[in-house]
Amino acid sequence: MPNTKRKIERTKLFRMVQNFDEFDCKFRPTIADCREVFRNINKQVFNNELKMPNFRLVYSGKFWGECQGNIDDNERCIIRMNKSFLSKRLFVYTMAHEMVHQWEWLVHEHMTHGPTFFIWREELSKFGIVLSRKYRIKHYKLN
Ligand SMILES: [Zn+2]
Repeated sequence: MPNTKRKIERTKLFRMVQNFDEFDCKFRPTIADCREVFRNINKQVFNNELKMPNFRLVYSGKFWGECQGNIDDNERCIIRMNKSFLSKRLFVYTMAHEMVHQWEWLVHEHMTHGPTFFIWREELSKFGIVLSRKYRIKHYKLN
């Protein structure tokens, strides 16, 4: 028989499942989501130095995001974002990662996962954004 008298919302299990909803549900971004998150990170972290890139939404089992710089104009780039993320958090982390590449392209005309990349790690961490070389994509089925 189900125990109906318990305060379910006070249980660990309830809170754990709530957290799954908050952090682990699928997130399918739109171009408007991309632009909104870009604007926020650009304003708070990059002092509005980055130009709005061309966003493309793509299905890929190989990457969450990808930044392609324009060889003739280092202010411009294309950022491809996956159509399906495991969570909104991962989407925001990925956007920040690609924006660091965009900044590297603007300032250094290269993209790395080296020292010029990681100088943004601390600033991003103030906003709770984790800057990593790679966010695990294997073992997840994208749909
Ligand atoms: Zn990268």
